[in-house]
Amino acid sequence: MMNNQSREDASQDFLAAMNMGATSPDPCVMVVFGASGDLTKRLLIPSLFNLYCDNLLPDSFAILGMAMDDFTSESFRLKMSADLHKYSRREHFDEIAWADFCDSIHYLKGRFDDDDAFRQLKSFLQALDGRYDTEGNALFYMATPPSVFGMISTGLEGVGLNHSDDGWRRIIVEKPFGSDLASARKLNREILTYWREDQVYRIDHYLGKETVQNLLAFRFANGMFEPLWNRTHIDHIQITATEQVGVEWRGGYYDQSGVIRDMVQNHLFQMMAYLCMEPPTSFEAEAIRNEKFKLLSAVRIMKHEEVRHMAVRGQYDEGVLPDGSPAKAYRDEHAVDAHSNTETYAAVKLRIDNWRWHGVPIFLRSGKALRTKSTEIVVQFRRAPEFTFRGTPASGQLEANQLIFRIQPNEGIEIRFLAKRPGPSMHMRKVNMNFEYDEAFITHPGTGYETMLYDCMHGDPSLFSRSDLVETAWRIVQPILDVWGAEKARDFPNYPFGSWGPKAAFNLPAPDHRRWLARTPQQALERVPMFEGSGKMMLHAFAMMLKPAVFNAGDEIARLGDEGRELFIIEMGSVDIIDQEGDVVTTLGDGQVFGELSLLVTKKRRASVRAVSYCALYIMEKRDFCKVLMDRPQFAGRLMQTARERYNVIVDAQEWMASDDLD
Ligand code: NDP
Repeated sequence: MMNNQSREDASQDFLAAMNMGATSPDPCVMVVFGASGDLTKRLLIPSLFNLYCDNLLPDSFAILGMAMDDFTSESFRLKMSADLHKYSRREHFDEIAWADFCDSIHYLKGRFDDDDAFRQLKSFLQALDGRYDTEGNALFYMATPPSVFGMISTGLEGVGLNHSDDGWRRIIVEKPFGSDLASARKLNREILTYWREDQVYRIDHYLGKETVQNLLAFRFANGMFEPLWNRTHIDHIQITATEQVGVEWRGGYYDQSGVIRDMVQNHLFQMMAYLCMEPPTSFEAEAIRNEKFKLLSAVRIMKHEEVRHMAVRGQYDEGVLPDGSPAKAYRDEHAVDAHSNTETYAAVKLRIDNWRWHGVPIFLRSGKALRTKSTEIVVQFRRAPEFTFRGTPASGQLEANQLIFRIQPNEGIEIRFLAKRPGPSMHMRKVNMNFEYDEAFITHPGTGYETMLYDCMHGDPSLFSRSDLVETAWRIVQPILDVWGAEKARDFPNYPFGSWGPKAAFNLPAPDHRRWLARTPQQALERVPMFEGSGKMMLHAFAMMLKPAVFNAGDEIARLGDEGRELFIIEMGSVDIIDQEGDVVTTLGDGQVFGELSLLVTKKRRASVRAVSYCALYIMEKRDFCKVLMDRPQFAGRLMQTARERYNVIVDAQEWMASDDLD
């Protein structure tokens, strides 16, 4: 269906690598229920067009959109064309290819509770099958609200479209698959009454992302990690998925959902399963899905009384957008209840009761309206024993190794480890090795849907959820949903738009002396005047030392008279510096630093510091600061100069670096 010139002109070979050796799927008609909706225009049609341009659609292929809106095929094509020009991420939009592709799009108006509409659908499908020679194969995509999934599956059965003697019949069911364990079971029952499990493709397009799939490649194609992948060597795991945006136009949907249902139960659990499951015996769909199921089944189900200690919820307040303009509180968003109890942030601590992971906590967190958009996994290894370095400066400097998977943005893998600092004595410092996907491969701007659609047309369900997997995932979050549903959060809203999330989330790993990995610390350092001109390498070295902390308005951050051993960088918020008389000496805000003097001289603090508002701070401990500084005597000299000018404190850089205090 695509002319040769168009194929050649499809310049953005986003799937070029995958395209090599990829076979064209079976001919088919794809019926999109809910074709006038948001998903269809923003993700489905752009993804199908991407596949088309990369020659990954069958030659015999047609799309039939169905919804309640009053379109003809012609007017629907015009709408799709306008939408695609808006939403396609292709760098070079190929108009000829689009015109070709567009010809294969059709539309049928109909309600999903109307039997007659399904009879019309059947006739339309037969006509398209004849015209496009699609061999009786049909893929039904439910791009609709979940409330009508059951209705559509039943409607299709009513006219016998759930089976065919000639070709295959498959349905793709969008997420969310249910809203709790009971509704997921009910939906499974409804669908599986008329469809076989192998016909049902429950989609979570997150799994179509290359970097998520790369978790499998990393774990099972690299022999060196598997022996370390267990409780003997791994201390804990962190999985974080944050968004900068609020609920935008989806308040109506989101207010019924919340982040546990929207992100944790599906995306985060999928990543956890890939990361923690046993090696499958093959790459066959069932082998992988069996291992995922076993892993999720081993997650300890929280008792209701444990939810308070193992899970933290948050809801965003008004704040600031990245461009500095004001942002609404969640409760003021369109279609959100003004007293909503829905969580827009969650942090959860899970335990996996199997031999491999016993005693290794898994920390998950996700939220909207946060400072950065990022998805990342941190595998923290156990610290090496220190006895070898007894009697050397290195004892006390040992830190745990970390393996970091950056899923998005800047997809890559990083390993942080210790190295000896050059020089006669045995000093250690944290360094890293970094792998960036887009330096090694031509990466593509795909949505994740391309892979999922391609696999489904091929009949490969590896990346799709099975009924038992979905139900098991719901079973894990059900106690959290029960407790949070029954107990209204008293502190909502509890984090500002554009912040790091609620303070309590930062305390979740803390009882075990664990911490979330700091996000974007390098940018924070760049804003600090003291670090001006430090150079990329040094900033990078400092950035790896920073630890994040959150304080609420009124919290005491540092106390007068305490021995100060750390520097604080204000990422956001403001603090009062209060002298011994209790007077506010000054107020500091974003990008400013306090406590730097305590890095230079061991003295009791001469002032207290109190949070005026919600504060996100980076903490740099003296010993970490010094480790980096030792390698940069010039910067140390400059720092001493600053100390002299700003605080009238004279410190000898050489003496200071040699002091026992730093070891
Ligand atoms: P929309 O509300 O934008 O679209 C729903 C579509 O279904 C509309 O075309 C609507 O028609 C149609 N529809 C609903 N009920 C009926 C009915 N009884 N008879 C006929 N047509 C009906 O939803 P989205 O496109 O945003 O989402 C669709 C699904 O995809 C949801 O399950 C969502 O969770 C999931 N999803 C969405 C994402 C997104 O970015 N939008 C991302 C990931 C998943 P009409 O316009 O006439 O009402």
